[in-house]
Amino acid sequence: MSTVPGLFLHCRTGFEGECAAEIRDRAAAVGVHGYCKAKPDSAYVLFQPQGAGDAARVHRQVPLAQLVFARQWFVALALRKDLPADDRIAPLLESLAGVPGPVAEVFLETPDTNQGKQLSALCRSLAAPLRRAMKAAGRLQPDVALRIHVCFLGTGAAYAGYADLDNSAPAAMGIVRLRVPRSAPSRSTLKLEEALLHFLSADERGQLLRPGMEAVDLGAAPGGWAWQLVRRHLRVTAVDNGAMDPRLLDSGLVAHRREDGFRYRPPHPVDWMVCDMVEQPGRIADLAARWIERGWCRHTVFNLKLPMKQRYRELRRCLEHIDIRLQSARVPYHMSCKQLYHDREEVTTCRRWCGWASRPRGNG
Ligand code: SAM
Repeated sequence: MSTVPGLFLHCRTGFEGECAAEIRDRAAAVGVHGYCKAKPDSAYVLFQPQGAGDAARVHRQVPLAQLVFARQWFVALALRKDLPADDRIAPLLESLAGVPGPVAEVFLETPDTNQGKQLSALCRSLAAPLRRAMKAAGRLQPDVALRIHVCFLGTGAAYAGYADLDNSAPAAMGIVRLRVPRSAPSRSTLKLEEALLHFLSADERGQLLRPGMEAVDLGAAPGGWAWQLVRRHLRVTAVDNGAMDPRLLDSGLVAHRREDGFRYRPPHPVDWMVCDMVEQPGRIADLAARWIERGWCRHTVFNLKLPMKQRYRELRRCLEHIDIRLQSARVPYHMSCKQLYHDREEVTTCRRWCGWASRPRGNG
């Protein structure tokens, strides 16, 4: 067994460099320095801090919600490379002896790669035996705040560790699996669906997406995002020179405006502005800041496409730009940004207004 006290972070394949740069920065901000192992296209990063106990400290002090590129993470106690095919459970239990308390659940995972997918049957077959063994050892209990993670890299190799339920993603590997609804006009619909699930609590979804509310969808065609809003009975102004799915227009809830999304001004403030335009992220960040600053919308979800080389630097630049604009305009806001499972070369940003008891200015 090799001992690797560190943090294991799941990310999108190809974004290991961004995930590594980000965790180094965030850890440094809480006084922890270390280095990362980030093999290209491995879909994970291992952050190894200099001091013993520092991985747990970063896991406690840095909210996962602040990390854009990490979908899921856990404190890795060990890397086992010697798991025998006839009994993987005993060595895993041994490696998990350092978990600081009983756990409520067990996640068996793989990196999100094609090679990882080939290990999912193994994970499924080991889940029940590992749970049984944990229970027999008195280490599985309901109502506790920890979870075990075992991430298989091969049939005989796995990282084993734990995560705090309150500071980790609720799904294994941080992956929310969604099906494209049959009547949705495009696969892109899943990006907004996942964003609404990720950024809003169930209560917030109920409060902030009520029938009759108004939304503007910039870069709406063919209508996957608008479909998500219409299905919740919001009225949508769909701004795009491209064609919208006729079934959406038939709903009576969508007004199609063939206009430039950068020039469009809403005649009155709306509840939501969503934006999936394929454009330079700096221009989209600037546009989103303008909508918020001027009170044109209360809540917003927008994507920042990152096809360039310096993706992490560019994203930071965009988020800082929004931050500076909104701070100088003294606009209170809560902004979160994540590379969601259904995002590709892009990240999703959500800004929600917290005082949602009243409607936006000028909106009746
Ligand atoms: N969210 C859409 C969906 O779920 O079906 C997909 C949007 S697609 C990724 C990007 C759209 O942005 C394209 O339809 C394109 O015409 C539109 N677009 C790009 N630049 C635009 C602009 N300046 N103004 C309006 N629409 C724009």
